Amino acid sequence: MTTIGFIGLGIMGGPMARNLLGAGFDVVGYNRSPAAVERLAGEGGRAAKSVEDAVSGADVVITMLPDFPQVEEVVFGAGGVLESARPGTLYVDMSTIRPQTSRRIAEEGAERGLRILDAPVSGGEKGAIDGVLSIMVGGSAEDFAAAGPVFEPLGKTVVHVGPAGAGQTVKAANQLVVGGTYALVAEAIVLLEASGVDAGLGLDVLAGGLAGSRILELKRKTMLAREFAPGFRIDLHHKDMGIVLDAAREADVALPVGGLVAQLIAAARAQGYGSLDHSALLKVAEGVSGTTAGEGE
Ligand code: NAD
Repeated sequence: MTTIGFIGLGIMGGPMARNLLGAGFDVVGYNRSPAAVERLAGEGGRAAKSVEDAVSGADVVITMLPDFPQVEEVVFGAGGVLESARPGTLYVDMSTIRPQTSRRIAEEGAERGLRILDAPVSGGEKGAIDGVLSIMVGGSAEDFAAAGPVFEPLGKTVVHVGPAGAGQTVKAANQLVVGGTYALVAEAIVLLEASGVDAGLGLDVLAGGLAGSRILELKRKTMLAREFAPGFRIDLHHKDMGIVLDAAREADVALPVGGLVAQLIAAARAQGYGSLDHSALLKVAEGVSGTTAGEGE
């Protein structure tokens, strides 16, 4: 039986670890706060007391952590993945972090005989629970093939997009498009409502035409109802826009619309909406025009 050491059992990692258990893997879980580890143990997994404990007996290690400082601590720290994993172990980081950290992990991991993939995901908590995430994978073709059975219970669209770090770059592009789309849907709602047009009917038409998107499909009703429970928090999208702009700087390109979207998300955070869903960009769009829900109708 394949043993998976799973580190980071939060909104995404918790259900992902559960799906791996359901697929018959032996899962040893570790999380900074112990309640999540106890939950996993109650579901048939094994509880680890430390990163070392989760990693030392594992064939595959997965991390699902908030950002690069936590990933660096878990990977490069004392007793961390590089120190504790057996040579030949497949290590898959599924967190969303900056591509340069993923490339550093790949280089230093290879020196220790580990097989490394960066595999960030899209699809949110619901995608994690249902095991239908989109997974964008950077690393070698051999390691991607070896990870196939592990990705199977987690995702529906699993694509090898290039060498180490490429998964993170694709995820950055994903977050750029998602953030920009939210910002424009929010402005469309402000325009429709302030013009006295039925915004619900307006967005229904938009959703069926060239302006259609998954965001219009899935979120237009909750946005119109001003329901902003996360979902994906503004705080995390703020982190991701930092990754987008960093990656652009490194690639020597300018992303003017991306820069504006990053500022709108920063404004949402500065106005105290960091814990709300990223669709709460609507509150920033309303603030800019001084409108509130339904005004003008
Ligand atoms: P989360 O904060 O719910 O989970 C992170 C978990 O890691 C927490 O349980 C925390 O206790 C644990 N942790 C933090 N530092 C640790 C350490 N040093 N050692 C052990 N455990 C530690 O976050 P999440 O929403 O599950 O997101 C995880 C990653 O997935 C992020 O990079 C996020 O950007 C990405 N992501 C999230 C979503 C979403 O909808 N929530 C969607 C796609 C991608």
